Amino acid sequence: MSEKRLLASIHDVGPLHADAVDRLADRLSHHLGGPRFAMLVVPDHWGQAPIAEDKTFHRRMRAWHASGAEIFVHGWYHQDRSHHAGAIAAIKARHMTAGEGEFLGLDREEARRRMIAGRTLIEDIIGAPVAGFVAPAWLYGPGARAALADVGFVLAEDHMRVWAPDSGAVLARGPVITWASRSRARIASSLAFSALARHALAGMGVIRVAVHPGDVTVPSLLTSIDRTFERLLQSHQAGRYADLLFDRDRKKYATHCG
Ligand SMILES: [Zn+2]
Repeated sequence: MSEKRLLASIHDVGPLHADAVDRLADRLSHHLGGPRFAMLVVPDHWGQAPIAEDKTFHRRMRAWHASGAEIFVHGWYHQDRSHHAGAIAAIKARHMTAGEGEFLGLDREEARRRMIAGRTLIEDIIGAPVAGFVAPAWLYGPGARAALADVGFVLAEDHMRVWAPDSGAVLARGPVITWASRSRARIASSLAFSALARHALAGMGVIRVAVHPGDVTVPSLLTSIDRTFERLLQSHQAGRYADLLFDRDRKKYATHCG
C-alpha cells in the first residue's frame, strides 16, 4: 500500500507575478522540505507577460526544474478571450472565473494549437518534458477535453480529479484545497473551506493544495496556508504528480503478473 500523498502546486507562474511566486516557493519549500511542488506556467499572462523572450525568466524556470519542481503548462493567456455560445456558458465564464477560464470556450482546434504552443515553448526552455497541463481556473470546455487527448499530455487535473488524458483513467479524486484573494467574501469562504477541508479530507490517499500569487497579499490567507500544510503533513508525505503515474503502472504490473 502506498503512503498518503500531499500534492502542492503554485499557479500562475510567469514574469507578471515573479516576486509573489518566489515568496510562495520559499514558503512551500519550508513546509515540504524542498521544492516538492508543481509550478503552473502561463506562457503569456493576459497577453502582457510573454515568457518567450524573457531570458531572466528562462533561467529561473530552469533552476526550478533542476531543483525538482514539476513544470505544467497552464493555458496560454489564462484569460478567456472567446465569445461563448449560449447564455449558460457565458454566465459560467464571467461569474465563476472572473473571466479567467481561457479553455472553457475554445474549440478543439484552437485548444490544441495553444496547448502545443505552450508545451513546445516551455519544453524548449527547460530542456525536458512538461509534467502535464492544467487549464486556467481548472475549467475545460468540450473542445479542451478533446484536445488534451490529441496532444498527448500525460497528466491533467481539474478541481475534482487528476486524470491521464491518453486513457481517461482517473488517478486521484477529491476537491483541491485552495484560496481566493479576489474579494472579501471569497477570502472569507476560502478560509472557512480550508479550515474544514484540512481535517475533513485528511483521510484521503491523495490530497491537493494549490496556492496563487494573490494569496501573498492577504496575511490571513498565508496563515491559513501554513496551518493547512502543518496539519496535512502530519498524515501525508510531500509527493509529486508523477507519483500518480508510477502508482498506476505499478498496479497494472501487479494485475498482469500477480
Ligand atoms: Zn491560474
